[in-house]
Amino acid sequence: DKTLHIVGGGMAGSEAAWQAARAGLDVVIHEMRPKVGTFAHQTGKLAEMVCSNSFRSDDDEQNAVGLLHWEMRQAGSLIMQSADRYRLPAGGALAVDREPFSQFVNDTLRALPNVTVTEDEVSSLPDSGHWIFATGPLTSPALGAAIQAETGAERLAFFDAIAPIVYSETIDMDVVWAQSRYDKGDTEDERRAYLNCPMTRDQYEAFIDALLAADKTEFREGETAGYFDGCLPIEVMAERGRETLRHGPMKPVGLTNAHKPDEKPYAVVQLRRDNALGTLYNMVGFQTKMKYGAQTEVFRMIPGLENATFARLGGIHRNTFMNSPTLLDGRMRLRSRPHVRFAGQVTGVEGYVESAAMGLLAGRMAVADMLCTDLSDVPVTTAMGALVHHISGGAEAKTFQPMNVNFGLFPPVEGLKAGRRGRRDRYKAYTDRAKADWQGWLSKAEAPAPA
Ligand code: FAD
Repeated sequence: DKTLHIVGGGMAGSEAAWQAARAGLDVVIHEMRPKVGTFAHQTGKLAEMVCSNSFRSDDDEQNAVGLLHWEMRQAGSLIMQSADRYRLPAGGALAVDREPFSQFVNDTLRALPNVTVTEDEVSSLPDSGHWIFATGPLTSPALGAAIQAETGAERLAFFDAIAPIVYSETIDMDVVWAQSRYDKGDTEDERRAYLNCPMTRDQYEAFIDALLAADKTEFREGETAGYFDGCLPIEVMAERGRETLRHGPMKPVGLTNAHKPDEKPYAVVQLRRDNALGTLYNMVGFQTKMKYGAQTEVFRMIPGLENATFARLGGIHRNTFMNSPTLLDGRMRLRSRPHVRFAGQVTGVEGYVESAAMGLLAGRMAVADMLCTDLSDVPVTTAMGALVHHISGGAEAKTFQPMNVNFGLFPPVEGLKAGRRGRRDRYKAYTDRAKADWQGWLSKAEAPAPA
């Protein structure tokens, strides 16, 4: 059977459909809108942008999301074609005129003779056939329940609780030390999985004041569902009492400052390694609804993080996503049902561009499976490869939270200056390497299959 079923006609599903249809497959897109709606979507069109109209930076030399744009354009992405066509002036960012953007994707796909769009909600995981599920952050509740039944309830989350992530090279190791609380962990590697930022009493009090005063974002209508225990925003914890954090995520017990063994810290901010490369650290327990500007200001008050740059800032949103590192293989297949792929935001990437990018890859991978063509693994040195590698095993599964593309996901380029001063050269080296490797992969992928 050469029909590929795609559930969800959003950013990822639309791109996957385009890639597969171009390769000659018959494609059925199962899109529940407009029959069944979500709290954020407003139309029945494919590839609707639910919130901002920005694809973020278009700089393909210095920015990882700009690089992702570049890679997608090279691969003939429909989402990028439409974004470029309906681009609005926005400096270095790629902003798009959302109505015609979505209309163009919608009309292009519906006009293809081998694409059918059906208005149905899929609420179970199929036993056979070829499927890509790209149902997004607002996956319908019935399907969410079916996924949980397959994977175990704890492997599908309905909210993200994102703690900020810091580039490890911007942490001041003259102040911060590596140690896991009570020296727990079996191996040296595990004991070194945590970094600790010490605070004196004065620093702690000033930090609490700043948290309380900071600008916060409110939940959108339809988004609220109370906070879960265990993922309260830090500013809400601070509102409950000035000592709450010191007895919670910032407790100083079980830790000795390696730089000043005689000085007991009053409070400690812990950072936990977030990827196998060790280039990213997340701030443990620091999920927050503070505005981005406020976050950077407040978090740079933490000793050792004065010059920190953030791969991602914190947030809490309504967001259905799976624990992909434990559930998906490197080809985005559900390990327990390999004829079912997942793509887009439900796999734990974050944002329009990342979601569409994972749709592009899932589409191509499905084509290779169904037409029995060779497809080598996407190099992890590319933006596409870095992302898919992250969600399918590179990320720490225990603390997995949705991720934007960023250079911390890339294997470091050797022999370049570390730290902020070398950043421009380093990013250029990352993007040069990525472009060459992506073109190499594409040219192999697009070569005709051997007879
Ligand atoms: P979607 O684009 O959401 O597409 C999923 C599709 O699946 C939808 O059309 C849905 O109707 C359909 N569907 C769901 N369940 C079923 C089912 N059971 N059967 C059939 N169809 C189904 N990203 C940004 O980059 N910038 C932002 O400003 C931004 N703001 C956001 C605000 C909100 C409130 C939300 C919820 C998300 C926001 N995002 C934003 C994230 C953005 O929505 C996603 O990154 C992107 O749309 C994900 O693409 P996707 O294809 O995975 O999901």
